[in-house]
Amino acid sequence: MFFLMANVAIFIASVMLCWILGVVFKRRRIFDRWQKMESLEIGAALASIGLNALVSIAGWWLWKLEFIEIDVNSPGLALFHCLAMTLFMDLGMYAFHRVAHSPLIYRWIHSFHHRHETTNPISLFVLHPVEVAGFGGLMISYLLLFPVDYHGLLAYLTINVLWGTLGHSGVEPMPAIMARIPVLRWVGTSTFHAEHHEHPRYNFGFYTLLWDKLFGTLDPDYERRFRQEEPSWPHLG
Ligand SMILES: [Zn+2]
Ligand SMILES: [Zn+2]
Repeated sequence: MFFLMANVAIFIASVMLCWILGVVFKRRRIFDRWQKMESLEIGAALASIGLNALVSIAGWWLWKLEFIEIDVNSPGLALFHCLAMTLFMDLGMYAFHRVAHSPLIYRWIHSFHHRHETTNPISLFVLHPVEVAGFGGLMISYLLLFPVDYHGLLAYLTINVLWGTLGHSGVEPMPAIMARIPVLRWVGTSTFHAEHHEHPRYNFGFYTLLWDKLFGTLDPDYERRFRQEEPSWPHLG
């Protein structure tokens, strides 16, 4: 019950943050309007919350059995653990996401998330159950392989919800100057994931642009879109 309540709270916080971002940054909209919410999608979002709770219970059970090691005495390593987990998960999710776009898997599983060509506050949770379980499985695999610091794990989980919310908020809160700052220019932005919903052959990463840059799948138009600049080519007619 605790894990179910925690996941309901995460859902409510994410939806509210999306709404607040939409109001505060309404001048930096990526899409003209939010995707219409359908009852099937609300049902899918509720199923995702339930499945996320089950994944949390599985993690807790594996921790109780000491298959997962969570250290509370090394907060000095929190930043390292958070970065390591973020990069590992980003690479794993990039790989899964590319596989999810192969024709057969896309048709039966991932196309459900891509019902949203633009996004809305529940898009983050409009996922096929197989995808929710796959993400949970990847996270649990990481925790089985590597001991983590508790604070680093909490920081990663916060980043996960924040970036998922940002990527589906339909506005761009990050300042355009970020594209010119070393390291920060490789951080995943709202525009980055929004573009994936528009053009599903680009931008498969989540928290960073690194793997898309490395494997040649970054939208060539990304930087211009992120800065919200007009195309540089002349308009004909
Ligand atoms: Zn999405
Ligand atoms: Zn996709």
